[in-house]
Amino acid sequence: MSWSKRKRKWLAKKVKTLDQLFKDQSGICALCQQPMMREEASIDHLIPQKFGGIHSPLQAAHMICNSFRGHDLEPKPPEYFLENRLRIEHRRNIGNN
Ligand SMILES: [Zn+2]
Repeated sequence: MSWSKRKRKWLAKKVKTLDQLFKDQSGICALCQQPMMREEASIDHLIPQKFGGIHSPLQAAHMICNSFRGHDLEPKPPEYFLENRLRIEHRRNIGNN
């Protein structure tokens, strides 16, 4: 086996899948601390990819919460994410009617 193949295999073992993260966190969003549905979940890199986040620890979070996190390294309180998520979901619901 070539070195790059071995390295890729090692990384694959090291990096958790979204399914694993979701189970580990019992379906709780890491950012707003609220329950999420499996199809709402996305992987949040604790360190943004811009700063080399691909090798950083991972956590599962709402797609919407994740988008509000942006590239800000400053931690935000769960209320910040919850408020923004509810506002967006509310707006979406209005759009559907
Ligand atoms: Zn959330």
